[in-house]
Amino acid sequence: MTDTIFTKIINREIPADIVYEDDLCLAFRDVNPQAPVHLLIIPKEPIATINDIKPEQREVVGHLFMTAGNIARDMGFDEDGYRAVMNCNAAAGQTVYHIHLHLLAGKQLGWPPYTDKMKV
Ligand code: AMP
Repeated sequence: MTDTIFTKIINREIPADIVYEDDLCLAFRDVNPQAPVHLLIIPKEPIATINDIKPEQREVVGHLFMTAGNIARDMGFDEDGYRAVMNCNAAAGQTVYHIHLHLLAGKQLGWPPYTDKMKV
C-alpha cells in the first residue's frame, strides 16, 4: 500500500491538529469539518479500506471505536450523542485510502436522503 496523506500526518511530515495519540492510533481534526466537532481517528498501521481488514487487525479496528468513546467522554459530548462512521470506497465517498473513523458531534446530525436505488 502506498503512503497517503495520513501516513505523513502520523510521521509529522505535514501538520495536523492532533487531539489524541497512543501506540495504535492518532486522532486529529478534519480540515473540512462537517460538524462543530469533526475528528478523524486513524490506525497508525495503514489499512486501505474496510475490505482490507485482516483477522489480526480486529483489535486495532476495535481500538478506534473504543478511542471514539473515550474522546467523546473527555470532550463531554458522550451523553448528547455523536456519530462514528467509516466510508468504504467510491460509493461512500472515501477519498483517503487509509481507514479512518469520522467522529462527528456538536449538532443534531442528519442522514443523507435516499434519492436513488443502488443494486447490491
Ligand atoms: P473520506 O472522504 O471518508 O475518505 O474522508 C477523508 C477526510 O479527510 C475528509 O473529511 C477530508 O476533509 C479529510 N482530510 C484530508 N486531508 C486532511 C488533512 N491534511 N488533515 C485533516 N483532514 C484531512
